[in-house]
Amino acid sequence: MAPGQHFPMSTTSTSPTNLLNFDLPGLVAYCQSLGEKPFRATQLFRWIHQRGATEFAQMTDLAKSLREKLTTQACIEGLKILTQQESRDGTIKWLFDVGDGNAVEAVFIPEDDRGTLCVSSQAGCAVGCRFCSTGHQGFSRNLTTGEIIAQLWFAEHFLRRHLGTSERVITNVVMMGMGEPLQNYAALVPALKTMLDDHGYGLSRRRVTVSTSGVVPMMERLGQDCPVALAVSLHAPNDALRNDLVPLNKKYPLAELMAACQSYLAFAPRDFITFEYCMLDGVNDQPEHAQQLIDLVRSHGQGKAWCKLNLIPFNPFAQSGLQRSGNAAVQRFAQLLVDAGIVTTVRKTRGDDIDAACGQLAGDVKDRTRAAERMAKQRTISIYRAR
Ligand code: SF4
Repeated sequence: MAPGQHFPMSTTSTSPTNLLNFDLPGLVAYCQSLGEKPFRATQLFRWIHQRGATEFAQMTDLAKSLREKLTTQACIEGLKILTQQESRDGTIKWLFDVGDGNAVEAVFIPEDDRGTLCVSSQAGCAVGCRFCSTGHQGFSRNLTTGEIIAQLWFAEHFLRRHLGTSERVITNVVMMGMGEPLQNYAALVPALKTMLDDHGYGLSRRRVTVSTSGVVPMMERLGQDCPVALAVSLHAPNDALRNDLVPLNKKYPLAELMAACQSYLAFAPRDFITFEYCMLDGVNDQPEHAQQLIDLVRSHGQGKAWCKLNLIPFNPFAQSGLQRSGNAAVQRFAQLLVDAGIVTTVRKTRGDDIDAACGQLAGDVKDRTRAAERMAKQRTISIYRAR
């Protein structure tokens, strides 16, 4: 479904329409198809997203006739929770069943001044980054808008009940869970719009971040359709290394990616793009890599600070064949960037005792792409090359 195009999601006349699949304009169109006025859709939307209602009978300010109509034709159906794990540091990870043997993860990260939910967009991922557990699992399918928003819908209302508050708990959303969000664009945009909608979650554009490995044409569309904060998984300062770590680079090399970042800045709610850079021992963490990164940023930024570098300690897993950079290497790398005037942070690892840290998310994926086999072959080639 293209953004802006809305229709009921049910595939047969007998299956109820899951209202979580709609952003507000979509719900307006659905209500109109039932002969209802647009303001009814707004009431319904607020009940679902602001109050976490699951039953139409709860919606006492809707006409009884509408409630009855909805009960026979629609539903508000979240995802089945398979597991919930809580870390020593308060991070909570949920594993949600999305059917056919697939499961996806969402992670809540509490901090003093904010609550961040990391949301998945696909069951698996087809990009196949070498340092990412999800990438090694392969790809099964895109999530629907309803399956994306259901992660926030569930987490927000669960946490309010858990903490005994009626105030908003989740203040930030990062699309950094399983999947490449810009390869599921049609479902992503209505979900983002629901997050931003004042009748939905009312999150600021600055506090909703889409993280991409660099799907250049979709970055441009996102800037037009729904400009939220943007993070780019960079991980390498030159094309040869990035081709190896982030295979999408072969399609959209660094020069194109950097140009797309510059174009996005015209629409972005913040005046910078965040670059994520996973620190891999002996692979991308040497002083020459820092210098290449500085040159890359300077050659595209017309002398002003237009990006932030977020250095991420790698969370090793067996199949990757990669190791985490030592603290000294990370500090030396960060210092070189800071000395060159680039705003640089080192990400604090959260939830690593429950495998909820960055790059560790790996639900169950029925791989349709034979990624594990393919990546094992690539790994062998890389080891030979390194010798
Ligand atoms: S880092 Fe992101 S884009 Fe790359 S494989 Fe993992 S989920 Fe996919």
